[in-house]
Amino acid sequence: MGRLESGRFPGAVRVAGAVAAFALVLIFLAGPVWLVARGLCPAPLAAIGGAGPAATGPATSSAPATATAPAWRPPKFTARQAERDAMVAVIRRYGLTDRAVLAVMAAVPRHEFVPPAYRRRAYADTPLPIGYGQTISQPYIVAEMTRLLRLKPNSRVLEIGTGSGYQAAVLAHFTPHVYTVEIIKPLAVAARKRLKRLGYTVVKVRHADGYYGWAEKGPFDAIIVTCAAGQIPPPLIKQLKPGGRMVIPVGGRYATQTLMLVEKRPDGSVRSRSLMAVSFVPLLRAEPKR
Ligand code: SAH
Repeated sequence: MGRLESGRFPGAVRVAGAVAAFALVLIFLAGPVWLVARGLCPAPLAAIGGAGPAATGPATSSAPATATAPAWRPPKFTARQAERDAMVAVIRRYGLTDRAVLAVMAAVPRHEFVPPAYRRRAYADTPLPIGYGQTISQPYIVAEMTRLLRLKPNSRVLEIGTGSGYQAAVLAHFTPHVYTVEIIKPLAVAARKRLKRLGYTVVKVRHADGYYGWAEKGPFDAIIVTCAAGQIPPPLIKQLKPGGRMVIPVGGRYATQTLMLVEKRPDGSVRSRSLMAVSFVPLLRAEPKR
């Protein structure tokens, strides 16, 4: 039967068939190699690719495809998990259903970021004092602002207003490229120490006036401002990548503030939208140098 069927095809077609089959085999073999080379498929396929001679070449070849820097793994915490889960249930009730954001809110130990006097209330859905007249934001607002940034595993993100470092820790669960600026020196120093102690070693804290952003580390895919500005600081817009997103509360010290989403389009044009009424501590300005 087999012979009969194959016999129905003229010679030229048979040759073409063989070439096509060979090409298919080549594509099948080369696919994983290409993916691994682009870093698109890390562990399992990289292992397969590394095992085959086609992927690694001679045994003496230098670094295999898997020998890249180890992936960033945020620290894990178990203490007070039930309270965190209850806090997440409250956030969900606002209508926030983004799974990744909820998982991160359930993972970051908020009680480690508030002063001892407030630790008992660390998982209430409310802002809490952190000293120097500043506050750690309400958990729902932290979650919603984080969601609006649409972070990806390689996003570069800038935060203005480090405060306790809590929001920065939340961001670090999405990406290792977290930069945060705090104007009050003791808060910047304490947050840097706290983040390091807890294992959020990738977060870079700078003591400076965040009005100017952090130009040397930009441009950024996402910028989050956690203090209210009278208007959107132009340096921050400049440091946003085309396609980037910024969330920022805008409004006066005693006036109602509005949470704004600022998007820089791929063509560089900027569009901003008001999202909701919020209440943040004001963006302070460094004393002008005399
Ligand atoms: N994101 C913080 C809470 C922020 S409270 C957290 O998760 O804990 C707002 C912070 O913004 C305060 O710490 C305040 O000192 C800081 N801030 C105010 N003006 C600033 C400025 N111009 N540059 C940088 N930080 C500023």
